[in-house]
Amino acid sequence: ATFGTLSDRLTETFRNLRKKGQLTPADVDGTVREIRRALLDADVALPVVKEFTAAIRERALGDEVNRALNPAQQVVQIVNDELIGILGGQQRRLQFAKNPPTVIMLAGLQGSGKTTFAGKLAKMLEKDGHTPLLVACDLQRPNAVNQLQVVAERAGAAIYAPEPGNGVGDPVKVARDGVAHATRQQHDIVIIDTAGRLGVDAELMKQASDIRKATQPDEVLFVIDAMIGQDAVNTAKAFQDGVDFTGVVLSKLDGDARGGAALSVASVTGRPIIFASTGEGLDDVEPFHPDRMASRILDLGDILTLIEQAQSAFDEAEAMAVAEKLATETFTLEDFLQQMQQMKKMGSMKKMLGMLPGMGNMKQQLEDFDEREIDRTEAIIRSMTLAERRNPKMLNGSRRLRIARGSGMTVTDVNQLVQRFDQAAKMMKTVARGGVPNIPGMGPI
Ligand code: GDP
Repeated sequence: ATFGTLSDRLTETFRNLRKKGQLTPADVDGTVREIRRALLDADVALPVVKEFTAAIRERALGDEVNRALNPAQQVVQIVNDELIGILGGQQRRLQFAKNPPTVIMLAGLQGSGKTTFAGKLAKMLEKDGHTPLLVACDLQRPNAVNQLQVVAERAGAAIYAPEPGNGVGDPVKVARDGVAHATRQQHDIVIIDTAGRLGVDAELMKQASDIRKATQPDEVLFVIDAMIGQDAVNTAKAFQDGVDFTGVVLSKLDGDARGGAALSVASVTGRPIIFASTGEGLDDVEPFHPDRMASRILDLGDILTLIEQAQSAFDEAEAMAVAEKLATETFTLEDFLQQMQQMKKMGSMKKMLGMLPGMGNMKQQLEDFDEREIDRTEAIIRSMTLAERRNPKMLNGSRRLRIARGSGMTVTDVNQLVQRFDQAAKMMKTVARGGVPNIPGMGPI
C-alpha cells in the first residue's frame, strides 16, 4: 500500500534508535541520513526532503532531546511534528459560500480520478444534507459526459450535461449554464468536472482558467494521482500557474504509490490537501488530516479514522451504544464479535487493520489477511461461554485449551485474540473518553 516501504523504513530506523539510551550527534546524523534516503526513495521532492531533514536534525541535536527521559522517543515525536507540518499542519475543511450555491471546480490530468472523485464528493455532501449538482464540462474525451452520468446515478446526485450530439459544445458556457441551473433549481452546491489531458498543455490550462473566471468557484480542487511519483511536483506547479487551486485531492492512495506526491505537494504548492481518495468505490474517500496521516506513516496508528469509519458504517444508535460500552469498560468479547461481523459490511478489512498502531510489524500478516480471519475469530469467541466472553480475565490455561479444541484453533490463536482484544479495548476506552491513546511500546504521543 501507499507509504508501505517508507513506513517500514522509518519504523525500522526508529526501532534501531530506541535501542540506544543517550543519543550522540553521530546517532542523530545517522538517523537523519536514513530518513533522508527513505524519503528520496519514496519519490519525495528534493527541496522538501532537504527542508524536512534539516529541521529534524536541528531539533534532534537540541536541548529537547538531551533533556528528554527517552531521547529516541523524543526524536520520533519531532519527526511526527515535522511530518504533520509537511502534510499541511492543521486539517482544512471544505469552504462553503455565504450565498449558495457553493461552486467547487475540479481540475487535474486525465485519469487522475476527477470524475470518480466528483461522485464521491457528491455522495459525501448528500450525507451531510446538501443537494449537489454535478456539471459535466469535460467535452473533450468522447465518453466523459456519459461516465459522469453513471457516477451521478451511483451517487444519487443530479447532473447538468449538454444534450447528446451537442458534445462539441463550449465547456465554459456549460459551466456557466450549470451554475445558473443550480441556482434556479436550488441546488446548494455545484461540482464542476473539467477536461483533463494526458500531459499538461496550454490549451487545457486556458480552458480550465476560463471556467474558473466564468464561475468564480469557492474552491478549485486539484486532483492528483498519488502514483505519479516524481512528476507530482511539476504537474502541481503547472496547474498552480495555469489555473491555481485552493486545495488538493490525493487520489489512489490505496495503490502501490510510494507516497512522494502526498508528501511533496502541500509543501511545494502551499495549498492544503483536503481529501484523500482510497479506492474505486464511491465511499472510498476521507477528509485529509495531516496529523492522522503522519501517524499512519510512522505506524503510530490511526484510531480516530478507524472509529469514524465504523461510525459511518454502523447506524448512529449502535455507534453510541458501543462508545458508551467502551467508556464504561463494559465492552466485551461478545460485543467485539458483533463488531467484527459489522466490519464485514465495511468492506476492506485490510484497510481497517492497517490503521491500528504497530501493524507495521505485521505487514506480511496483513498482506496474507483474508476475510476468513473474521470467521476464525468468530469460531473462537463462539467456543467461549457467555461468562468468558463477558470477562476474558477468567480465561485460564485450561479454559483456553478447551476453547482452542472447541474451535479447531490453537491455544496461541486464542491467546492472540484475547491479547488483541485487550489492547483494542484499552485504546478505544481512552479515545472514547476524549483522550489520546497510549500506543504500546511508543509511550504517549
Ligand atoms: P479522470 O479522468 O480524472 O476523470 O479519472 P477517473 O475518475 O475516470 O479515474 C481514472 C481511473 O482511476 C478509473 O479507472 C477509476 O476507477 C480509478 N480511480 C479513481 N480514483 C481511484 C482511487 O482512489 N483508487 C483507485 N485504486 N482507483 C481510482
